[in-house]
Amino acid sequence: MTAVRNLILVLGDQLAPNLSSLAGADPACDLVLMAELYDEATYVRHHKKKIAFIFSAMRHFAEELRAGGLPVDYVRLGSLQNQKSFTDQIVQAIDKHRPERIVVTEAAEWRVAREIDQWRTRFPTPLDVRPDRRFLSSQLEFKAWAEGRKQLRMEYFYRDMRRKTGLLMDGDQPLGGKWNFDSENRKAADVDLFMPRPRAFAPDAITREVLQLVAARFGNHFGDLSPFCFAVTRRDAEAAFAAFIDQALSKFGDYQDAMLTGEPFLYHAVISQYLNCGLLDPLRVCQQVEAAYREGRAPLNAAEGFIRQIIGWREYVRGIYWLKMPGYERSNFFGHTRPVPDFYWTGDTDMACIRAAVTQTKELAYAHHIQRLMLTGNFAVLAGIDPHALHEWYLSVYADAFEWVELPNTVGMSQFADGGLLASKPYAASGAYINRMSNYCATCRFDVKLRTGPTACPFNALYWDFIARNRDKIASNPRMARMVRTYDKFAPAEQKRIGDSARRFLTSL
Ligand SMILES: Cc1cc2nc3c(=O)[nH]c(=O)nc-3n(C[C@H](O)[C@H](O)[C@H](O)COP(=O)(O)OP(=O)(O)OC[C@H]3O[C@@H](n4cnc5c(N)ncnc54)[C@H](O)[C@@H]3O)c2cc1C
Ligand code: SF4
Repeated sequence: MTAVRNLILVLGDQLAPNLSSLAGADPACDLVLMAELYDEATYVRHHKKKIAFIFSAMRHFAEELRAGGLPVDYVRLGSLQNQKSFTDQIVQAIDKHRPERIVVTEAAEWRVAREIDQWRTRFPTPLDVRPDRRFLSSQLEFKAWAEGRKQLRMEYFYRDMRRKTGLLMDGDQPLGGKWNFDSENRKAADVDLFMPRPRAFAPDAITREVLQLVAARFGNHFGDLSPFCFAVTRRDAEAAFAAFIDQALSKFGDYQDAMLTGEPFLYHAVISQYLNCGLLDPLRVCQQVEAAYREGRAPLNAAEGFIRQIIGWREYVRGIYWLKMPGYERSNFFGHTRPVPDFYWTGDTDMACIRAAVTQTKELAYAHHIQRLMLTGNFAVLAGIDPHALHEWYLSVYADAFEWVELPNTVGMSQFADGGLLASKPYAASGAYINRMSNYCATCRFDVKLRTGPTACPFNALYWDFIARNRDKIASNPRMARMVRTYDKFAPAEQKRIGDSARRFLTSL
C-alpha cells in the first residue's frame, strides 16, 4: 500500500464486522489500526482473565479482517511499536502511515471518547467519529426520551424499545397481553435441578500466547488466569449462545433470581462479555430468542425476561450513563466512605454467601446478576462502602465490565448513590432474602434467623442499622417507608442491640 486514505482505529470492545467505522472500507487504500495498550489494561487493575479475553479476541478479530482482505496494523503489547495510550499510538500511526483521515466508531466510555475528541485540535489530520449502531437506541434518542420526564423508569423505556424493534409484539400489543412477566421469574432453585454448563473452549495457539503474555505482564492482578474457557471468536461465541438457547433458555425466567452453592451459572446465558466487546450482536441474540419462543422451545416468561435484559436494561443503563457523564461516577447519595473490605479480593470471610460470590469471581471473572446485586452490592450499601471505590472494584473484577454498563449498575441500581435516578428503591435486604433465594445459609457459620449477637447473620443488624442511619433520606420513599415504620416499632433496647451489633461488625472489617 502506498498512501493511506482512512486510518480506521478499532477499539478492543468494537470487534464486530458490521462496525460503522468499517463500513465502506477499501482494502486498496484503507488501513485498520488495533493496539494492545498498557494504559487500557491497567487504568483499573483488571482481572487477568478479562485482559486475556480481550487481547485474544482482538487478535482473532484482526485475523478475521485480514482474511476478508483488509490490511491491519496490529500492535502487540511489548512490541517495539507499542505505545502506552491511544493518543501516543495515534501519534505514531500518523507519523508512519500519513493517513488522509482518522476514522473511528464512537467510544463506549466517556474517558476514551474525551481522549479521542481532543485529537480534533491536537492533530491536523481530520477525524471522522461515527455512531455506534450496535446499540438499538442512540445517545440522542435516549436524551429525547428522558427529556421532561420526572422519573426515568426502565419499564417505559423498554416498552418503547419493544415497539421500535417489533420483538415479541402482536401488532401494537405485547405478545401474551403483558409487557413484563417478572412476577413469574422469582423461583428459588432446587439442588437436584439439571444444571446446564456454558460451552467451554480450549485455548488455541493465539490464546495460549496471550495467556503467557498476561501471566508475565499482569501476574499481580486479581484473579485466576486458568482454566481459560471463554470463546474468543464470533463463531465460538455464537456456538456458546446456541447452547444456551438449547439447554438453559427455557428455565432462564424461572430461576433468574436464584442462587445455589457451587452453581455459578444456573440458567444464565454468560454472554455479556461477548456482547460488550462485539462478538455477539444484541438485536440478533434477541431475535434468536424470539424465534426459539415461536418454535415452542422456550416459554414466554423466559423469552420476555431475556429480551428485557438486553433491549431494556442494557440499553437503558447506557442511556443513563451518557445522560449523566461526567460526574455520575462521583454520586454518593448516602455519603458512604468505608473502603472496600479486603475479603472482596480474597474471599476470606465467614459469610458463606459473600465467600461464594468472591471466590467464583476470582476463578471465573463472572458472577450472575443477583450475586452482584444482592450479595456484594447489597452488603456494600448496608456497610456504607464508598460507591466510587466499589465501582472500581466491579470494573476490575468482571470480564464483561466496561464503564458504560458497570457504572450505572453499581452506582445507580446497586448503591442508590444517584438518589433514585435509576432505581425506584435501594436494593437493600436482610439475610432473609438471601436465605429465601439461595442455600448459602445452610452451611454458614452465622445464623440467618438471629438479628443481633456474635453468631447472628451480619446482613440482619446491618440492614436495620442502614434503615435507622438513613431514615431521613428514605422515609419519603413509598417503597421504603414501611421498613422505617417497622424499625420504629422495635423496642429501644432492641434498637440499641442492632446499633451495637452493626458497629461491632463494621469495626471488625
Ligand atoms: C453491581 C452490578 C454491576 C454490574 N456490572 C456489569 C458490567 O460491568 N457489565 C455488564 O455487562 N453487566 C453488568 N451488570 C449487569 C448483569 O449483572 C450482567 O450483565 C450479567 O450478570 C451478565 O451475565 P449473563 O450474560 O449470564 O447475563 P444473563 O442473566 O443471562 O442476562 C442476559 C444479558 O442481559 C444483559 N443484562 C442483564 N442484566 C443487565 C443489566 N442490569 N444491565 C445491563 N445489561 C444487563 C447482559 O448483556 C446479559 O448478558 C452488573 C450488575 C450489577 C448489579
Ligand atoms: S447467614 Fe447471612 S452471611 Fe451467612 S450465608 Fe446467610 S445471608 Fe450470608
